[in-house]
Amino acid sequence: MSQMSRPCQMMLLVNPQSGKGQALTLYNNHIQRMLNEAGIKHTLVITERQNHAREMVKEADLSQWDALVIMSGDGLLYEVINGLLERPDWEEAIRTPLGILPGGSGNALAASIHHYSGASPVTSEELLVSCGFLLCKGLVSHMDMVSVHLCSSPRLFSFLSLAWGFVADVDIESEKYRHFGAVRFTIGTLVRLASLRVYKGRLAYLPATRDHNSEEALRSNTMLCKDRVPPVTLPAVRDSSFHNSCHSNNSLKVRRVESTPSRSVTKALPGPHDSLLPPLDQPLPDDWVVVPEEDFVLMLAMYQSHLAEDLLAAPEATPDDGVIHLFYVRAGISPTALLRLFLAMEKGAHLTTNCQHLVYTKVRALRLEPYSPKGIITVDGEVVEYGPVQAAVHRGLSRLITG
Ligand code: ADP
Ligand code: MG
Repeated sequence: MSQMSRPCQMMLLVNPQSGKGQALTLYNNHIQRMLNEAGIKHTLVITERQNHAREMVKEADLSQWDALVIMSGDGLLYEVINGLLERPDWEEAIRTPLGILPGGSGNALAASIHHYSGASPVTSEELLVSCGFLLCKGLVSHMDMVSVHLCSSPRLFSFLSLAWGFVADVDIESEKYRHFGAVRFTIGTLVRLASLRVYKGRLAYLPATRDHNSEEALRSNTMLCKDRVPPVTLPAVRDSSFHNSCHSNNSLKVRRVESTPSRSVTKALPGPHDSLLPPLDQPLPDDWVVVPEEDFVLMLAMYQSHLAEDLLAAPEATPDDGVIHLFYVRAGISPTALLRLFLAMEKGAHLTTNCQHLVYTKVRALRLEPYSPKGIITVDGEVVEYGPVQAAVHRGLSRLITG
């Protein structure tokens, strides 16, 4: 592992509008001192508007930065990831270690990182302090990315979730309660439960078999296995440069392996090749499963453990398991039973409640074709174009500071 002549440099992007509008105060009260004490140099970048961060990381000289850290909700990281994957040098850019500090109202990735550390659940400022410590420790894991294809929008990338139905509606309808912080989701859930809807559509998926996973692990041998790739540490812990060690260590290089036959429609664009997805208007291959139901209350695809600070939606998820954890709830569930599910989800116990309407399966790709002309689909909590959507996982494509 070689050394760089300068200390670690972190770009810390803060969205002053996120959550209750307190991200900057939280930075001043907690994070600035923690980073200084850990000897981590950082440059504060305060975003001025939506997509500011996305445009900035798209153009940035990334050789100047050892890590990009977001202090906001999940929405700002979504911008950063998409900015990185829009670059001509995306393959290198997306390997820049990413960090997150909870400063928004939807802090699902921060809660997931805290959960992966094995610590008992916390919320609010305790979660911030925990994530601050994990950031200072600086261990890096690989993180899966999910590519999302929509009808007419360019392909997107997602690190957290794809939602349709109840969860997507609550997420977006609760934006107006943003000043309540994370409680906005509880309020939104209660409001939507009172007028529970049925969402009609066709859902299909490519199951994640054990074969697929081991095949994938072999294909990308150096890129995934935390147990084979020693984690990299920030200089505060090990006296070596973060970024340099990440980028100069050949064992961490992402090897891109094309699988055959190639069915992608996105070859010319930056970003990884989508070998699992036929064009959105083409039939699906025979190895896909079409869900028999067409009436749903929700569809939720998760690739991190937490859906919100206090919702452990995918207890088995790890950052780089190469799996989309797919949940759907069939129509016919009563509002009380749905509420029970969400209450159980606070402890990750919803899968053991024996709810006959809840289905959980692990997949590598999925396609959803809503029948209704209007509605809400969210990617990482952000609204995207409504209509047919498909997604596929790219195992361990990015790198996340998990501590
Ligand atoms: P929250 O969890 O509170 O929703 P997010 O990080 O998800 O916080 O940010 C909410 C939205 O604000 C995202 O769509 C993000 O792109 C956008 N955004 C980022 N910076 C700014 C800014 N300076 N002003 C307004 N919106 C911003
Ligand atoms: Mg958000």
